[in-house]
Amino acid sequence: MEITHNMKSIIFDYNRTIYNPEEGIVFPGSLEILQKYKDAGFVLFLVAKGGIDRKNQIKDLNIEHFFKKIIVHPEKTKDDFIDAMNECAEKTVFFVVGDRVKKEIRFGNECDMTTIWLKNGKFKDEEPELDIEKPDHVIHELSELESVILRS
Ligand SMILES: [Mg+2]
Repeated sequence: MEITHNMKSIIFDYNRTIYNPEEGIVFPGSLEILQKYKDAGFVLFLVAKGGIDRKNQIKDLNIEHFFKKIIVHPEKTKDDFIDAMNECAEKTVFFVVGDRVKKEIRFGNECDMTTIWLKNGKFKDEEPELDIEKPDHVIHELSELESVILRS
């Protein structure tokens, strides 16, 4: 890898972060946000819980091209995030965005990533109970990402 400094990556949770399961659509504006960060040189990952149906759903949404890797497993674990880290140079700075403090926020914190809780939807009242579940930042919609992740 040529660039070993200043690389930045964002790991996006899928369900209720990019995708709105209640309406069966990606959240309005999400694709523009993904494109913006991709254009700015961020390496993007998608992590999702599920199996072949979920993989097919992601394929059908035509969002695969945004991501360096799409990580789908029956249960989300810290290993999903380590998997993303292994795809990037050692000094890459990682951000994690997701709607669940007990899942992606916790695992992101365990990997020393900067964690951003999208406090919205079904799990907005699922507050952190442990220190490791506490996000570095809280936003209420994806468009607020820019207030946390400044463009480089
Ligand atoms: Mg989610």
